[in-house]
Amino acid sequence: MIEFVNVNKTYANGTIALKDINLKIDQGEFVAVIGLSGAGKSTLIRCINRMHDISSGRLLVHNVDVAKLTGKQIRRFRRGIGMIFQSFNLVTRISVIQNVLVSFVPDLPMWRKLTGVFTREQKMKALEALDKVGILDKAYIRVDQLSGGQQQRVALARTLAQNPDILLADEPIASLDPVTSRMVMDDFKKINQEMNISVIMNIHHVEVALEYADRIIGIRKGEVVFDGAASQVTKEV
Ligand code: ADP
Ligand code: ADP
Repeated sequence: MIEFVNVNKTYANGTIALKDINLKIDQGEFVAVIGLSGAGKSTLIRCINRMHDISSGRLLVHNVDVAKLTGKQIRRFRRGIGMIFQSFNLVTRISVIQNVLVSFVPDLPMWRKLTGVFTREQKMKALEALDKVGILDKAYIRVDQLSGGQQQRVALARTLAQNPDILLADEPIASLDPVTSRMVMDDFKKINQEMNISVIMNIHHVEVALEYADRIIGIRKGEVVFDGAASQVTKEV
């Protein structure tokens, strides 16, 4: 359902970030992309929802050639793909539930989002998503009152409310302590297993990747140097 065919990516300044990537990722897989800083992990993930354009080759998501999508199609396409960042990207001065609700109206300016009236159905959906990640009791609390782990769960809930079938995560636990990291990883695992949502995650904690992911993709200098089950990863990889 995600397929890279001879994909290359060179940034405008000439940096070669991806070299001849060939990958197939099936629905429901939990994939961890590992590699040193600068290896190309983030670029790889961000090509999938077209935050970055590829330079050559083909990238298919649900058999759609991502490069061929235009303005309005890109926005609709992105809504089916959740994206989680290291920095959570929440609006911290509003409540948890408002953060989830504003994702239902992505095209409005922020002031319109904040004064928006949401339907009962949208509110139910938002609360359901918060329940899924265990922070229903925080729904009416301002985001800036929450811990980092809780904020990452709000980001997860916001994404789940969009009913994605793919969840991309760019270093989602990089700014969290080890205990909180595991709680967030448990949430990813649960979402992956219970909802059959594909998870593709960049992570530099190799031990955590091996513990949670089914499949490990190792990237070095823009190339795939390992692709296999977590159990096959040896010291050298
Ligand atoms: P990783 O996620 O593994 O740390 P990245 O995908 O962020 O790696 O970066 C891969 C390479 O591309 C690095 O050499 C990085 O400096 C470069 N790079 C990343 N983003 C840009 C950009 N917007 N413009 C130019 N070079 C970039
Ligand atoms: P902190 O960063 O302050 O440790 P956390 O956000 O990690 O806070 O956790 C806050 C509380 O939420 C903890 O008491 C923890 O037991 C609970 N908790 C953590 N993860 C989950 C989860 N996935 N579902 C339900 N409750 C959770």
